[in-house]
Amino acid sequence: MNFDIESIKQALGTLGATLSLLKQAKDLLPESSQKQELNTAIESAERQLKIAEFQTAQSMGYELCKNHFPPEIMLSKDNKIWKCPKCENEINNSHKPPKYFVAGNR
Ligand SMILES: [Zn+2]
Repeated sequence: MNFDIESIKQALGTLGATLSLLKQAKDLLPESSQKQELNTAIESAERQLKIAEFQTAQSMGYELCKNHFPPEIMLSKDNKIWKCPKCENEINNSHKPPKYFVAGNR
């Protein structure tokens, strides 16, 4: 699989920024059924965006902390010990082969 992860990350970032602008614009609308609909659409888009972010992170070899929901993308200095920035949960992956990284694909 050879896709440009940077452009996916950029697209996700742009989408996130667009969504927050939409949310601000929505607050200016008078209460109506259309506003409710817009609200529902924005919430569902945000959920899907989060999932896309997690899948991108996972495809890049990141671990996800499953101590809470939504999960948090865990960080690692050495690709073995992963730490959750939210709850400090740590997992040790040193016994697992690095399944996500393919030689020549970094
Ligand atoms: Zn956590």
